[in-house]
Amino acid sequence: MPRDFLKDAKDEYDVVVIGSGLAGLTSANMLARNGHRVLLLEQHYKLGGMATWFKRPGGHIFDISLHGFPYGMVKSCRRYWTQEIADSIVQLNHIRFDNPMFSLTTTFNREDFTKLLIEQFKIAPEAVEGFFVKSRKMDFQDDQQMTTRQLLDEFFPGREDVIRLLMEPITYANGSTLEDPAISYGIVFSNFMSKGVFTFQGGTDRLIQLMEAELKHNGVDIHIRCDVEKIHCDGGQVRSVEVNGRKIKTRAVVSNANLKQTIFRLVGEEYFDRQFVEDAQAVRLNNSSTQVYMALKPDDQIDESTGDLLFSSTAPVFQTDMLLSRDITSRTFSFYYPRTRPEGQPRCLIVSSTNANYDDWAHLPEDEYQASKKDLVETTLDALDKYVPNIRQRIDHAEASTPRTFEHYTKHINGASFGTKFEGLKVSFDVPKQIEGLYHAGSVGIIMSGWLGAMNYGRMVAGDVDNLLMTGGSRSTVETAS
Ligand SMILES: Cc1cc2nc3c(=O)[nH]c(=O)nc-3n(C[C@H](O)[C@H](O)[C@H](O)COP(=O)(O)OP(=O)(O)OC[C@H]3O[C@@H](n4cnc5c(N)ncnc54)[C@H](O)[C@@H]3O)c2cc1C
Repeated sequence: MPRDFLKDAKDEYDVVVIGSGLAGLTSANMLARNGHRVLLLEQHYKLGGMATWFKRPGGHIFDISLHGFPYGMVKSCRRYWTQEIADSIVQLNHIRFDNPMFSLTTTFNREDFTKLLIEQFKIAPEAVEGFFVKSRKMDFQDDQQMTTRQLLDEFFPGREDVIRLLMEPITYANGSTLEDPAISYGIVFSNFMSKGVFTFQGGTDRLIQLMEAELKHNGVDIHIRCDVEKIHCDGGQVRSVEVNGRKIKTRAVVSNANLKQTIFRLVGEEYFDRQFVEDAQAVRLNNSSTQVYMALKPDDQIDESTGDLLFSSTAPVFQTDMLLSRDITSRTFSFYYPRTRPEGQPRCLIVSSTNANYDDWAHLPEDEYQASKKDLVETTLDALDKYVPNIRQRIDHAEASTPRTFEHYTKHINGASFGTKFEGLKVSFDVPKQIEGLYHAGSVGIIMSGWLGAMNYGRMVAGDVDNLLMTGGSRSTVETAS
């Protein structure tokens, strides 16, 4: 008889959270802390969504999305999770750039960037200061027509090298382009610039284990391998969810599934008004990624001056479409040294990440798909050899993932790494205005994406759900992820 993954689940909850990405987990935790009966349903066999990891023989553990996040995570983890989680956040000190325009290493904070821009790039101090002040001040009330290109041109006209330095990490991180709204760039850039780039000591597996323990401690009923098929609504209100052949009643649903999947697949467009459906249809998905995971032999070490994060490119100029091309010229290498997992066996691992278009991978016949993955591994090893000489002889394991992999594990349409583009935020935010008790929390645009953005969005939506459940009240206003 097939195993019943919903065994012991009740027939009714105050809230059902669909999906255990960082937004879903944070919503569930906050709501349970406030005394609500919370059911968390995850279709995969482990929690975390994109915040995930996998193990390979030889004791290797690869992180998928633990490359770096802003300092704001410390506060969010302390407030919405535990002091132990917050205390495990540590800084990455060697952020390195290597491309035909410049090579440098930075701590990636405002002080060091100011120094670099003035001394190495010879930019006038007033322009540097003006740029930082304007970026820092940006919020949702600002002009949303200005593009990132216009913002950068205002302070650094004709300086493609400076634009590359300021933009490349953000583009690598989340696929945003020079054509995207300047406010989303300004907010994310300023978040990082506040103190630098941080990581979680112990790896994603330890973080998610600690979170799971906290959820259980607060009484969240967690069920994995539970693929929600439908959110049932009636009379403009959420009524129940359908999962693994059962209908579970609830007053509120927080969907952490992809925004478009939530609206069009889980609910159905007939439950929303026409204008909302048109707006939702017009929301663009974000791009996807490819990654190559490499483990050095157990007794081999890399010097930490190689970098924690290395933005490497052979492209003569910075162009967003080139970053998405299958003909890869730009890669971000994340180096994981033994101190990343102090409690594990000493290991050096490297993950190479590149932005990618789903369509370049989606429809390849199986043999071509496998050959392309192999080629991706080989060309990545070629590129890495510059920084880790003789890499081919030194590795124990190498394998690749593609947009198809991300789609398979998280059900994000087209394997979108960061949910939707910026316009998804308004649609996500308007969901409860359409159907009482229905909320979306998850990656929409670059401000509410990434580990910090997703977590903060989850907390924000939990506040709204709490308000509904306690008072039948209305929504909070948009606030940023910082
Ligand atoms: C390659 C890569 C590298 C990244 N690097 C970084 C980085 O260095 N720093 C950073 O801050 N961010 C990074 N990110 C982004 C970050 O990981 C994500 O933005 C964040 O984790 C997304 O969280 P989320 O809450 O939106 O949900 P997701 O992680 O998207 O999770 C959604 C969850 O919902 C589940 N689900 C979907 N449909 C259903 C259903 N019908 N029923 C039940 N469950 C369902 C999925 O299985 C999944 O667990 C990276 C992402 C990728 C792909």
